[in-house]
Amino acid sequence: MKSPTYITTSWDDGHPMDLRVAALLAKCGIAGTFYVPAATELGTMSAAQLRELVHDFEIGAHTLHHIDLTRVSDRTAWQEIADSKAWVEDNTGVSCVCFCPPLGRYESLHLHMIRKAGYLGLRSVEFLSLDFPRRQAGLMLMPTTVQAFPHRFSAFAKNAIKRKALANLWRYVVHGRAAEWPVMAESLLRHAIARGGVFHLWGHSWELQDESQWQRLKDVLCFMGGFVRQAPALTNGQLCRMSMPSVTVLSQAAQAAKTAAAGG
Ligand SMILES: [Zn+2]
Repeated sequence: MKSPTYITTSWDDGHPMDLRVAALLAKCGIAGTFYVPAATELGTMSAAQLRELVHDFEIGAHTLHHIDLTRVSDRTAWQEIADSKAWVEDNTGVSCVCFCPPLGRYESLHLHMIRKAGYLGLRSVEFLSLDFPRRQAGLMLMPTTVQAFPHRFSAFAKNAIKRKALANLWRYVVHGRAAEWPVMAESLLRHAIARGGVFHLWGHSWELQDESQWQRLKDVLCFMGGFVRQAPALTNGQLCRMSMPSVTVLSQAAQAAKTAAAGG
């Protein structure tokens, strides 16, 4: 029996244009996780907009100030990781289980910090993967499939070589020769449905605006929406929970019960 297929999407940086992405996702019946920092140079949505978004979508953490974790002290990195979880939870009233390091940059010590802060999952920027979340350092690491952005071939090659992920590069050669991300997305989604796996589309709303990609995004999301019976759409957090070994889920539930019994 082939393994199941799931669809997920994620959107970084918390720009007010995220609401436009959210409207398209809702229209096409696709779930999404928005990684929202407290502040960025490009501006972030208001508290009221964030509360509107959390009605239908998952909110993940993306540090407080959109910092590159590899360029700050360990102490600052820890504060940015732990405090952004508290910030999301205070502003949404919902538990925040997924973290995305800005610019996709992190080192192994950050994985330990992310786990210690209480997250379940981390979304990386590995491209062209159809893998389920992988367990590493007590976290579920989620790679991505396609970015809603017109990359050049060199970007894919660099990404695959850095990660020693030559199978991903092979997928580019087979599915991406048209070099148009919507073509690659459609081809890889069909491939995921045929063989099983996770199709993960991600992007930045401000980039969609800068590159005039809205019509393309709408077309791709409508196409994805046509497959949700074969490939249910989940948030990043739902996908992590589903992929976690059951023993971890049980021990985390036991830990949560212990904390609750101890009064917080
Ligand atoms: Zn970012």
